[in-house]
Amino acid sequence: VPMSEVASYDVIVIGAGPAGYPCAIRAAQNGLKVACIDEWKNYDGTYAFGGTCLNAGCIPSKALLESSELYHRAHSEFSAHGISATGLAFDVATMQKRKAGIVKASTQGITGLFKAAGVTALQGHGKLLAGNRVEYTAADGSKQELVAKHVVLASGSQPMALKTLPFDGKQVVDSWGALEFGAVPKRLGVIGAGVIGLELGSVWRRLGAEVVVLEAMEQFLAMTDQAVAREAQKHFKKQGLDIRLGAKVSGADVRKDGVTLKYTDARGEQAVTVDKVVVAIGRRPFTDGLLGEGTGVKLDERGFIQVDDECHTGAGNVWAVGDVVRGPMLAHKGKEEGVMVGDLIAGLHSEVNYQAVPSVIYTAPEIAWVGQTEEQVKTSGRDYKVGSFPFMASGRARAMEAPAGFCKVIAAKDDDEILGVHIIGPMAGELIAEAVLAMEYSASTEDLQRTMHAHPTLSEALHEAALGADKRAIDFPNR
Ligand code: FAD
Ligand code: NAD
Repeated sequence: VPMSEVASYDVIVIGAGPAGYPCAIRAAQNGLKVACIDEWKNYDGTYAFGGTCLNAGCIPSKALLESSELYHRAHSEFSAHGISATGLAFDVATMQKRKAGIVKASTQGITGLFKAAGVTALQGHGKLLAGNRVEYTAADGSKQELVAKHVVLASGSQPMALKTLPFDGKQVVDSWGALEFGAVPKRLGVIGAGVIGLELGSVWRRLGAEVVVLEAMEQFLAMTDQAVAREAQKHFKKQGLDIRLGAKVSGADVRKDGVTLKYTDARGEQAVTVDKVVVAIGRRPFTDGLLGEGTGVKLDERGFIQVDDECHTGAGNVWAVGDVVRGPMLAHKGKEEGVMVGDLIAGLHSEVNYQAVPSVIYTAPEIAWVGQTEEQVKTSGRDYKVGSFPFMASGRARAMEAPAGFCKVIAAKDDDEILGVHIIGPMAGELIAEAVLAMEYSASTEDLQRTMHAHPTLSEALHEAALGADKRAIDFPNR
């Protein structure tokens, strides 16, 4: 291609998920000339920005969690308020239509944001070539070479498959497939009791499916504080989620009338037959077709693009952000990385605080945490204190008929700094924001204790937990 015909930019971002699109917008806000390339196609064959998060992850899953939770509450909880609902019914097609509408509005919103920020939005495939050049393949197959001062790789991740149980898109599906069911499966198998397994297992359980979850590890929710994990397990069991721990899938027999999953656990060989199976055993970084010859970009042994703390790859002006690099695979972590790189490229100061990344599991009760678990603090050898407050003792939670769970604050004994906050209960994902802000400012429990919280709110539970760390809680006996 003659140099005069090569379109040139300050920044080209490959991938328009929650890591890539904020990077493109921030770089444009900083006065740079930016293009963003994305190849995501939905089941109907149309291109859409927003990546996994908007099209097949965070947003559609939360839409179905909300619908199914409302049905469940009308069915099982309204009577406690003296409300009777007879002839209660749901229609999966309407739920799915509502979900699709929310996804469409969100993805079209990104097109609008790109336009407003002056980002050139390109739909199709992007491939990094040596010398900061990018090969762009448009929908019609035509290829064009672009050049940029900086290239940001934000290609995301893809579901991992089980060798013994490959996806067939009908009976054996990934998380995206499980968000698209047109009817409630009678018996649903879920492989992996991680975040996806629990959220999507909850959706279909609430709508009436018999749900069996097979988890390879002996420990339930190993990444969470174990007091939270125990509380969660108790509630999920009550809801009818049949979670089988230490279950290693050894094979499967897929027939038209059902899938028989064979697994071994502490008691030996087991089998369970279901109608559909969701495999949710984690995600892998996605770099297929992303890197040409001689780019200098390196992958680690697990396939993640190698970067430093500033998300620089070490190869020329090439950066990488989001699920395709180390760290938790979370939309907000990717967003902050994208924004940081959009600022760093423009010569501004920016950093991501990896010590204060919140995690939320959108089950009922909801689970949220930031910082270290009690087990991690114990292992670190630092002296610590713990304050815990049950929602049972919160007036607002009782008024909401949502008294399950607790808030737990872990702090250093020496200087009172908050080391971790763990919440299981109503609106945990919203409540955790206060703890994230506190940790961002290296707050002590005393800082939280001296902060006024409105009454009656759920946030008082976090306040009381902070007081409890010094045995000064008012609304709960200090132990
Ligand atoms: P992605 O969102 O995967 O986006 C990458 C984009 O790049 C895609 O559009 C892809 O098509 C495109 N692309 C890749 N390679 C190329 C190429 N060579 N050329 C052009 N385009 C390319 N996280 C949360 O924080 N909260 C949640 O509630 C949550 N729920 C989830 C629920 C489910 C069911 C799933 C599957 C995930 C969920 N996640 C959640 C995780 C979240 O979706 C990811 O962490 C997030 O999407 C990662 O963002 P990303 O931009 O790095 O990658
Ligand atoms: P995960 O890592 O959360 O859970 C996978 C689970 O599968 C683990 O418990 C693991 O022990 C188990 N497992 C692995 N191999 C197995 C096997 N062969 N048999 C049985 N069990 C097996 O992964 P996920 O649930 O697939 O989610 C993928 C990513 O998406 C996660 O990183 C998560 O952070 C992100 N996500 C986040 C949210 C949220 O923030 N609310 C929601 C959904 C997904």
